[in-house]
Amino acid sequence: MSRNMKHRHFEVVVLGGGAAGVAAAAAAGKGGKRTLLVEAGPMLGGELLSGMSIDGVLNARGEWVVGGIARELFDECRNMDGFIGPLHDFRLICYVCCDPEVMKIAVMRVLDRHRVTPLLYTLAEDVVTDGNRVTGVILVNKSGRTLVTAEYFLDCSGDGDLAAMAGAPYEISDASGELQPLSLMFRMSNVQNQPLLDFARRHPENLALGESDYIRGGRTDAELAEAIQRQGQPTLFFKGNGPLIQQAIRDEEHFPTALIMIQPTSSARREVCVNATRVARNILGTDSAAVSGTISELMEQAWTTAEFLRKRVPGFENATFAGIAPRVGIRETRRIIGEHVLTGEEVINASKHKDVVAKGAQHVDIHQDGIRQVRIPIANGGSYDIPWGCLVPKKLANVLVAGRCLSATREGMGTARTMGPCMAMGHAVGTAAALGIESRFKDVRQLPVLALQEKLREQGAVLDGVH
Ligand SMILES: Cc1cc2nc3c(=O)[nH]c(=O)nc-3n(C[C@H](O)[C@H](O)[C@H](O)COP(=O)(O)OP(=O)(O)OC[C@H]3O[C@@H](n4cnc5c(N)ncnc54)[C@H](O)[C@@H]3O)c2cc1C
Repeated sequence: MSRNMKHRHFEVVVLGGGAAGVAAAAAAGKGGKRTLLVEAGPMLGGELLSGMSIDGVLNARGEWVVGGIARELFDECRNMDGFIGPLHDFRLICYVCCDPEVMKIAVMRVLDRHRVTPLLYTLAEDVVTDGNRVTGVILVNKSGRTLVTAEYFLDCSGDGDLAAMAGAPYEISDASGELQPLSLMFRMSNVQNQPLLDFARRHPENLALGESDYIRGGRTDAELAEAIQRQGQPTLFFKGNGPLIQQAIRDEEHFPTALIMIQPTSSARREVCVNATRVARNILGTDSAAVSGTISELMEQAWTTAEFLRKRVPGFENATFAGIAPRVGIRETRRIIGEHVLTGEEVINASKHKDVVAKGAQHVDIHQDGIRQVRIPIANGGSYDIPWGCLVPKKLANVLVAGRCLSATREGMGTARTMGPCMAMGHAVGTAAALGIESRFKDVRQLPVLALQEKLREQGAVLDGVH
């Protein structure tokens, strides 16, 4: 160890303060373990703070498939009047919307309740190993370098940085070599709901609707658009191949995009989140220079979409540009290879597993270039299980992964990457670490899954009893 390097010890270190990491740290803390949550950025919550819908917490039937820590966060949001939902998209899924400004406080309340120590502005740059165990992680920030030792390391970095540095095998993309586009969310306020919903009802040809047999349920597009109006919330998906966007592309007033997704963030501010931008040049999210090179283009795209909405979509005439996401959104980097690899087949068939520790319900959702996007629904509006082995990286004894770096094929990750399952996986690994420490297991594989499941159920996680 360098003479200048500081040393701290925790029982559990969680790397990454996104949806998975927040849940993992809260769960480890809830399990009574001294937990450090390390985040390279300036705030905790990751994409939970961008304003987009939180998908994969309910299946298309409206059954909750994620509970536990996620429900604690939603309850905090509700207490501060920042919870909207659950809502139906009348396309593929049901989801929850929250006010991202309130979510910032909710995240901290939950972490504080479980006595998690946050460490922001800090990058994990290396690990120290002893055989198949990680004994420490080297962190760097303005105070210099610190070695943090711990019993368990939970990699919730999205990119699988810690597991990869420790020697776990991983994959990036597949034979196609494609990587999902980078995007930047933004919000618009003072949106008039009624004219917007009336426009949607009058022009269902512009909307992505009833993309699963279960949701369509024999209904026409016009009936589905009417159902959106009855729901009364601005939850619309303008499709890239619909006449509205196609005309704007021909007039050079918009760029090709699969969807312009509009979802509510605050009724009081009449505010929506808009997901429309994309740079699809197979940029790897771990290439910081390449990601930085997209920021101006994404900002200009956000402005273009805002102008398009103001000009062409009733209800947006007097809308104000209200906020831009704090970071470029990265959908796909490393997938750590674990003891089980979640496949596309398993998810679309709504497969159930004995060793389930988390669930998801979003369709396989792989964004591509131009107006292309793979969207494959889960059978019968159901949910799929995420088995324990998806969170246990090969070759490592005391490291678990959760979130979008889970062990999955590209298709499996294309659904499990949504925030609901990320939080459920986080809950599972945080709880597993707490149990593993109590039982003094040398290798996390010795942990009886039944004991983990029992603890998760006790804490409100949903592992069974739903489609
Ligand atoms: C544009 C876009 C749109 C999306 N739309 C939706 C949607 O509508 N609904 C939905 O549910 N999901 C959506 N998703 C997916 C979802 O938001 C993400 O996959 C999910 O939030 C990932 O959570 P995570 O915790 O696994 O990873 P991340 O959110 O990526 O968090 C990882 C954290 O780790 C930190 N980190 C990484 N490496 C290090 C390191 N070495 N040292 C220190 N810190 C590190 C990062 O700064 C980051 O904050 C979208 C994603 C994107 C990008």
